[in-house]
Amino acid sequence: MQLWKQIFIALVAGLIIGVLLNQTGNADIAKSVKPLGDLFIRGIKMLIVPLIFVSLVTGVASLQNLSTMGRLSLKTVVLYLGTTAVAITIGLALAVVFEPGVGVDLGSAKAVAAKEAPSLVNILIGIVPTNPIEAFATGNVLQIIVFAILFGLSITLAGDAAKPVRVFFESAAEVIYKLTSVVISFAPYGVFALMIWVAGTYGMDVLAPLAKVIAMVYLGCLVHAVVVYGGMIRVLARLNPVRYFQGCIEPVMVAFTSTSSSGTLPVSMMAAERNLGVPRSVSSFVLPLGATINMDGTALYQGVCAVFIAQAYGVDLNSGQYLTIVLTATLASIGTAGVPGAGLIMLSLVLASVGLPLEGIAIIAGIDRILDMARTALNVAGDTAVSVTVARSEGQLDQAVYDTAHVLRADD
Ligand code: ASP
Repeated sequence: MQLWKQIFIALVAGLIIGVLLNQTGNADIAKSVKPLGDLFIRGIKMLIVPLIFVSLVTGVASLQNLSTMGRLSLKTVVLYLGTTAVAITIGLALAVVFEPGVGVDLGSAKAVAAKEAPSLVNILIGIVPTNPIEAFATGNVLQIIVFAILFGLSITLAGDAAKPVRVFFESAAEVIYKLTSVVISFAPYGVFALMIWVAGTYGMDVLAPLAKVIAMVYLGCLVHAVVVYGGMIRVLARLNPVRYFQGCIEPVMVAFTSTSSSGTLPVSMMAAERNLGVPRSVSSFVLPLGATINMDGTALYQGVCAVFIAQAYGVDLNSGQYLTIVLTATLASIGTAGVPGAGLIMLSLVLASVGLPLEGIAIIAGIDRILDMARTALNVAGDTAVSVTVARSEGQLDQAVYDTAHVLRADD
């Protein structure tokens, strides 16, 4: 059976079992299966650093010249920033129209300290590692990307002398991809366990009071995926969007249950290449970069939550403040790490920028995992959509692979 079907069945079965456990007062049993899910997540996280490094080195070494790299980066960053700004706008619009925060019980929400926005200069300087081994050891994806690009380019520049290194990395990439397939084949078990845990521990009593804000975030993510990603694939890439949605289903489901776009990265890279025909030279750059800086779901969520908190506290926002939210949420989403719950911490930055009470974060915190599932799924779908569009615009997309049915199988 195809992997996505197995994961889908696991997800639905986990949901049903989790809800049943919750309803019968057995949340403890649901909690006890979490380690199985964590084991799977640790397995994919184990792959991130070696996978990014070897695949990006081989990807860049296969590019013809420096200007290709420059063009690729520019297109990628423009698409990432553009889609993020649209995502926040959708979030703001939904929250303004449907007013999820009106009449919410504020309870005894406590203040949370605001996060300081890092300065742009420090961010830019910080992407060049002073010690690549340290970047690997701490899993600093941006630094690994920079080192891998320079290393890959130098393989090309060194010409014949670098042949053994090139061959070594090509071979290492195959090994890591094989290992990735092996780990991914356990996805159905991991997804099953994580879903039982979430559905079993979050009862209706926690979710019901904030049902409207949950609905807004889920609806916003759905609208953004269909309109913006579907539109981008149709209009910019001139491809059938249905195939794109089919092709990114495995990473989207893993993202949904794991709530970590960095953790999902190996699955996204595999799916982009094998299901959608994105070449390694593009996917190995666009996807790790996206998992680190492109968070449309997080941005959309921050838009919804800012308006939600303003409404809950009876604060009227003016048009200048909405614009400030769009700008700070774009920056905050770039600065958000692709790990569970990071978007909630960065929300403090957005709230502080327009003077909204930081206590609002405490209201959201209780249900944040549920919101994190949707936003992480969208974050990952966005990275994949951009990788397809960039590959297509470079004339590098393998259309035959894109057009055929799924190839990711459990025994891949
Ligand atoms: N969990 C999200 C991600 O990994 C980040 C967030 O919390 O918004 O993409």
